[in-house]
Amino acid sequence: MAQIGYTDTPFIQGSTYRVHDAARPQPRVVTPGTFSTQTRPGLPPSDAVVLFDGASLDGWLSCKDGGPAGWKVGGGCMQVVPGTGSIRTRAEFGSCQLHVEFAEPKVVKGESQGRGNSGVFLMRRYEVQVLDCYQNPTYSDGTTGAIYGQFPPLVNACRQPGEWSCYDIVWEAPVFDGDRLAKPAFLTVMLNGLILHNRQELLGPTQHRALAKYEPHPARDALELQDHGDLVRFRNIWYRPLTAYDQA
Ligand code: MG
Repeated sequence: MAQIGYTDTPFIQGSTYRVHDAARPQPRVVTPGTFSTQTRPGLPPSDAVVLFDGASLDGWLSCKDGGPAGWKVGGGCMQVVPGTGSIRTRAEFGSCQLHVEFAEPKVVKGESQGRGNSGVFLMRRYEVQVLDCYQNPTYSDGTTGAIYGQFPPLVNACRQPGEWSCYDIVWEAPVFDGDRLAKPAFLTVMLNGLILHNRQELLGPTQHRALAKYEPHPARDALELQDHGDLVRFRNIWYRPLTAYDQA
């Protein structure tokens, strides 16, 4: 077998490896998933943790009382049942790559924040807004894909009501050292393949009509989806823990 890499090249700055180092570990092999279409969700990658597969809400709990999630499942998706409350995963996790697909109600109702409102809450605290902003103006830090109350998305990448949209999110959880914030949270968000936030530093947990401020919380927590009274649907929800390349 031909030699792979080199043993006589200079060391990379700040690294114990040489340029093209023959001994540097190989990246883990992961089988990629497939893309979704409007009629069919794609397959998750082989190392994803599936949070919702379209068939069951067993992995989810009601935020109201910790009992079974009250939303309905059918046709390969879940739908908000207004008044039953937000739902959360049983799974608790920190930094991750997150995939979430959602569809706004085809029957358009309400305006501004009242049209197709829901939300993807990382660690139950940090909201990426879900809203129908297809020809529906609202305050910009509350539009679809906004880091709610802090940062508007770079673009409005909404599809028409009733169509499936897709969030791909990189979540870097904040790190606390006792009561002190050691590292803030960062969010990278893509909507339908368009970048909305490029490693945006967050100011703290989501607030309504108030300033964000970090408060210490556990290193892992659940993913939450918001019941804001609108008939928003979700499908194909999975995450991959964010690990370094040489970690298992
Ligand atoms: Mg919301």
